[in-house]
Amino acid sequence: MKLFHRLVIDKDYRDQFLGIGIDLLHIGNPDKNWMPFVVLTLAETDDRWLPVSSLIERLDVGHTVETEFARTELHGATCLHFCSKSTTGYPEPSSDGGYLAITYDLSDYCDQCGTGKTQKQPFRMKSEVKWGRRQTTQLNWVEEELFVRPDIWESVFKPMGIDFRPVQSVGGRELDSVVQLKVEEEVDLNIPSTHVAEVCSKCGRVKFQHNFNGYWPSAVSSPVAIAKSVQYFGWGHAAHRALLISHDMFERMDANKLNCQYWACSN
Ligand SMILES: [Zn+2]
Repeated sequence: MKLFHRLVIDKDYRDQFLGIGIDLLHIGNPDKNWMPFVVLTLAETDDRWLPVSSLIERLDVGHTVETEFARTELHGATCLHFCSKSTTGYPEPSSDGGYLAITYDLSDYCDQCGTGKTQKQPFRMKSEVKWGRRQTTQLNWVEEELFVRPDIWESVFKPMGIDFRPVQSVGGRELDSVVQLKVEEEVDLNIPSTHVAEVCSKCGRVKFQHNFNGYWPSAVSSPVAIAKSVQYFGWGHAAHRALLISHDMFERMDANKLNCQYWACSN
């Protein structure tokens, strides 16, 4: 497993970074030198990480940690979190947030933290999905649902006992090119009490930070195939449950080279 630190640095800090031998103007795409910040990604094993980490602590520069697992770590996990590497537009109608009332039963919904939605109707998309080389996608704002090509549902997910929901156009016509996986199973995660969380001041529900450094927390019981976490993740008004898969489901998805990214949970 490799840990990567991703920093978004204001170019006003150029002098401070020059002091440790890093010129912010020489990072990234020179065509984007008009931008006020640069994105610096450093592996934890990079010699520059130690001086950079103490500098950003003084400057109060935020950063996120990303984990890249070895193949053996992914194949050895009994439960994994995953997402599609692709997004395709927004749930419709998106401009006024009208999709919420159309798609979900909102009787238990909290508009402050975003928790409590239950899907009641198919999602609507702007148009048929032009897949190209992709097999899976997700909608922006909807991190807990996976959309796939119908033939991929048939060959990869249906044999694992996973059903689908149709997807509709903005006007309510059924789309031919895409289906949504019906994920009904729930799995409880052993999230450490020290993990960053926020309690909603309106409904009292807890939401966790989505990022874990290294392994994801273990599952109380491994998913049968594909599941959502009991726990919510997200920040502000956004909340979602994490998509989780069993070892066998991962092996199928990996063998079919689906455009997904995976994070191993601790066993
Ligand atoms: Zn709330």
